[in-house]
Amino acid sequence: MELREITPLAERRASLTDGFHLVVDALKLNGVQTIYGVVGIPVTDLARLAQASGIRYIGFRHEASAGNAAAAAGFLTKRPGICLTVSAPGFLNGLVALANATTNCFPMIQISGSSERPIVDLQRGDYEELDQLAAARPFAKAAYRINRVEDIGLGVARAIRTAVSGRPGGVYLDVPGAVLGQAMDAAAGAGSLWQVTDPAPRQLPSPEAVDRAVSLLARAQRPLVVLGKGAAYAQADEQVRAFVESTGIPYLAMSMAKGLLPDDHPQSVASARSLALAKADVVMLVGARLNWLLGHGEAPQWSPDATFVQVDIDATELDSNQPIAAPLVGDIGSVMTALVERTQAGQVAAPVAWRDELEARKARNAASMRQRLEADPFPMQFSNALRAVRDVLRHRPDVYVVNEGANALDMARNVIDMQRPRQRLDSGTWGVMGIGMGYAIAAAVETGAQVVAIEGDSAFGFSGMEIETICRYRLPVSVVVLNNGGVYRGDDVNAVSCDPSPTTLSPAARHDRLIEAFGGTGYHVTTPDEVTAALKAALASRGPALVDCVLDPGAGTESGHLTHLNPKSAVKGTHHD
Ligand code: ADP
Repeated sequence: MELREITPLAERRASLTDGFHLVVDALKLNGVQTIYGVVGIPVTDLARLAQASGIRYIGFRHEASAGNAAAAAGFLTKRPGICLTVSAPGFLNGLVALANATTNCFPMIQISGSSERPIVDLQRGDYEELDQLAAARPFAKAAYRINRVEDIGLGVARAIRTAVSGRPGGVYLDVPGAVLGQAMDAAAGAGSLWQVTDPAPRQLPSPEAVDRAVSLLARAQRPLVVLGKGAAYAQADEQVRAFVESTGIPYLAMSMAKGLLPDDHPQSVASARSLALAKADVVMLVGARLNWLLGHGEAPQWSPDATFVQVDIDATELDSNQPIAAPLVGDIGSVMTALVERTQAGQVAAPVAWRDELEARKARNAASMRQRLEADPFPMQFSNALRAVRDVLRHRPDVYVVNEGANALDMARNVIDMQRPRQRLDSGTWGVMGIGMGYAIAAAVETGAQVVAIEGDSAFGFSGMEIETICRYRLPVSVVVLNNGGVYRGDDVNAVSCDPSPTTLSPAARHDRLIEAFGGTGYHVTTPDEVTAALKAALASRGPALVDCVLDPGAGTESGHLTHLNPKSAVKGTHHD
């Protein structure tokens, strides 16, 4: 019988690694610098090990906010933001953000611990039992599970590639607790990891497609470019600017594309939006979908004769609402470069009559907006508080703006101009509430810049507890709460019982005191001058701050600009009819 040497226990341990270490090593190898999450069974040690390895771990109070932060990080950096969640309930909380990221085309990966497979799969009733992989699949771009420790490198690589290539989106990566604890030989483990090469390869459009688009634009009498958040995401700022400026075509920026070219650019027709949509004859969509936000490209919002050019990385987006006469499939940087290269000097130009018509409407609308903003009623309306915020931010183009709410979103989008790309993060494609603090935290963490979050009081409530996170990490975030004491507005009266009405919140809420509980600075303000002074002081301090702006409870309208989306009762009129 052969005599084998017995390796001492300590030596054998030193040559081993496990799932926890390999997940962290795989993320590190692929350049992950930050993980956003909430710890608990079975992922607490994963967060500790990530910190020990030099990855920054930002711990949240709720997984939806951690997920939203990861999604915003993805939008800002073009690399997948990482969200870490615990099994079942934590996973489900995070899934909301994963679905939202997928809808917005932001790359993120939700890595979730999960319970014992043999017990979960036979539904024997495990601690936090849930078939998470099946649950995640309909809400994500893709969902994968790692079943063996030796597959961790593959699982992470696959998740990264899927999240950022083609149309970006959310990827779910399930890692059962048993896999995290599983050991393997350290050298073999290291050899099982790899760095993804060129995760989002350039995609060039065909020359024929480019020429087709150029000749269509060359014939246009009333051309219009619509820039969407896909164009902002693409980080092709110079290429987009070169095309827009060399052709002189008027452009409209969707809300998260604001600042891609500065909002005060002479070709911006933001303040003549309705006219531009209604009259444009050739419309070029650049990283913008013809979804509900653009009225599906239908009349009467659009001219029934409008012809569409669409630049998108995802060919299945084309013809989703209207016939696309000139499809340009590729990444925005490559497409815009090709367009500039293949357009002869003077071949595409916006006719003067069209530019003049838009200019006249811009001047008229700007005058009425000025009048509304300059009024000084007491209590304040949204527009008056926002005028004060605008006056401060005008001198701070470095500040990132996060914005959510109904009226708070609609008004701030129009009042607050952006000067630089990707500095506005908002409710996005779903018009969702609850992204505020997660997005603000990610913007501060990823960029090191100061952030102002402009929040409706109802919207703020969805992620409000994260102000503790902001204070704990001493992030330079100032939250402006536009407080009219209600969902939409605070003056609704319940005529049928003594309970508050469905849209009513606490009328005298002092959100400023919330942040004081965690060591931040609170301001309670009732006039535009006080808003200005408080926001200036908050920004000067660079510390966590919250400015609670007391508005007229009757300020705002139900559902903001989306009143028309409320179904009408067929049987009995609603209270607001
Ligand atoms: P918005 O809401 O601002 O109108 P959308 O989210 O509707 O913008 O549209 C973004 C579009 O941009 C999506 O259809 C997506 O496929 C596309 N997109 C994302 N990244 C790129 C890219 N790098 N190149 C080309 N298209 C992109």
